[in-house]
Amino acid sequence: MRKLPLLNAETRPFWTGGDVGELRMHRCNDCTLYFHPPAPICRHCSSLNVTPTPVSGRGRVVTFTINHQAWTPEFTDPYVVAIIELEEQAGLRFLSNVVNCPPDAVEIGMPVTVVFENLEDVWIPLFERAA
Ligand SMILES: [Zn+2]
Repeated sequence: MRKLPLLNAETRPFWTGGDVGELRMHRCNDCTLYFHPPAPICRHCSSLNVTPTPVSGRGRVVTFTINHQAWTPEFTDPYVVAIIELEEQAGLRFLSNVVNCPPDAVEIGMPVTVVFENLEDVWIPLFERAA
């Protein structure tokens, strides 16, 4: 099984939003910019006035690699590790996996949309090719 993240006041909204179908990114109420990873302070303007905010879940593949090494016994098939940029803001990026398609079908710039994998109390945001 995947190693699961530790949930705390800052990270819980991000890792549990999938329970209600929401990808939540921290957003600053002063400069209005999103940032990631979640933190109690805006990385753009240092404001403490920040709120986890639902986003569209749509984005694109900035870059990716195909992992062939079975680092754990559960992941024997090749899989895609990708940096996804969300459509809400240039530079709003995070690391995820592209799923539900053959790894060779993934391309830089490919439009993707979020899907969630629920493991225990965590909903991991993954991405698949957008329709
Ligand atoms: Zn700010």
